[in-house]
Amino acid sequence: MTEIQLHNTLTNRLEPLTPVHPGEVRIYTCGPTVYAFAHIGNFRTFVFQDILRRFLRSRGYSVMQVMNVTDVDDRIIHAAAAAGIGIREYTEKYIQGFLEDMDALHLEAPEEVVRATDHIEDMVALIERLQQKGLTYTSDGSIYFRISKFPAYGKLSKIDVSGMKTGTRVDVDQYEKDDVRDFALWKAPKAGEHFWETRIGPGRPGWHIECSAMAMKYLGETLDIHTGGVDLAFPHHENEIAQSEAATGHPFVRTWLHAEHLIIDGQKMSKSLGNIYTLRDLFAKGHKPSTVRFLLLSVPYRRQLNFTEDGLTQARNAVERLRNFVDRLKNAQFPAGSSPESHERIEKAEADFDAALADDINTAVALAAIFDLVRDLNTAVDQQTFLQQDAPRAVAAMEKFDAILALLADDDDEKLQKLGLLRSRDRLSAPQIEALIAERTAAKRRREFKRSDEIRQQLTDSGILVEDMKDGSVRWKYK
Ligand SMILES: [Zn+2]
Repeated sequence: MTEIQLHNTLTNRLEPLTPVHPGEVRIYTCGPTVYAFAHIGNFRTFVFQDILRRFLRSRGYSVMQVMNVTDVDDRIIHAAAAAGIGIREYTEKYIQGFLEDMDALHLEAPEEVVRATDHIEDMVALIERLQQKGLTYTSDGSIYFRISKFPAYGKLSKIDVSGMKTGTRVDVDQYEKDDVRDFALWKAPKAGEHFWETRIGPGRPGWHIECSAMAMKYLGETLDIHTGGVDLAFPHHENEIAQSEAATGHPFVRTWLHAEHLIIDGQKMSKSLGNIYTLRDLFAKGHKPSTVRFLLLSVPYRRQLNFTEDGLTQARNAVERLRNFVDRLKNAQFPAGSSPESHERIEKAEADFDAALADDINTAVALAAIFDLVRDLNTAVDQQTFLQQDAPRAVAAMEKFDAILALLADDDDEKLQKLGLLRSRDRLSAPQIEALIAERTAAKRRREFKRSDEIRQQLTDSGILVEDMKDGSVRWKYK
């Protein structure tokens, strides 16, 4: 088997995976900030880490993955205050929503999904360690990390810190890219804001300290892999490194993996363009969970993903091709016997698929290996050279691929139903449609045209195309 190579942001190189604990890979993933539903750009990163963990398991590794949920920050505090409720109550809906969205996309739940507000004590203890080492200072009740005490600052994002003003500070969670300054570990309470009484004073944690404290609590002082979107590399991950390594004296993370941006129709997602979509927005427009999953995983994680309507159509067709192929393998009759050619062809596809994923999770090449196989075996079927005993072997290969891709289960309707987003057109079954058409025909015969028009409209609204034939019969199909 090909050695697994991953692109480490820290070294800017492909490196072999070498876990701290042989046989086990410990991964930390920056999770959602739960002040709203996560958007599809967020889910691009989460789909990537799902493929990563499924692939590692296919290679026999056990995976211990921790994902945080940021359930306290400026936006949450303000939104909860505006709604007149506590932050736990405010964030609960979005945490549940996030878990439901993950389920809809067949994202495996990380071994631990942990809330920041359940780990205040761990953060306080980590800040105390930094205080004892003289790496912090206090100003107006807030505690800051003094970046000048950590000379390696900038090593992940390659930010030049030479012109950085030390001793200056910013007092917001939403950092701008040019804020290369000391960052808050602990924030003094403001009037009317939620805060905790702790040994280091009243207040609430900064965003960065959360991830360091929770990652090290569950995964040890040196993690194998830390994943996140590329926009988190600076300052968030840079600050995680500074706090963690300054406190422990050990490398915090061996391999940093950053997923590139998702753009929409060639443009950056932004509020002003109104092109920020949640998963639910897409499902409400009629797109299937499996379509979205396919599109999000189809582009290797280090390449920018351009999310378009065309891409969705292609993704839907691609998923259908895979499902139809497996149906054909399971249900069609082939000439008796088995063919060494088919066997070899399948083994080659399996090897190509695995090698592609071992090459920094190259999902595009992995998918090509599958679709080439589908094409070749379909040709063999047409030429009658694919034989009956080849079918179970081919099904086994498709299921092996699907342990990582998770696209074959035809459960889109079920997933949408769970979210309450199954559209009415999906709800009309063929017998229901036939019954409506019969009723419409009867109404016409009675010359009740208002009623027959109503039924036609109902069918149209449900996405059914109705065609009246010359011989008086009626044909219909889903739009
Ligand atoms: Zn984080």
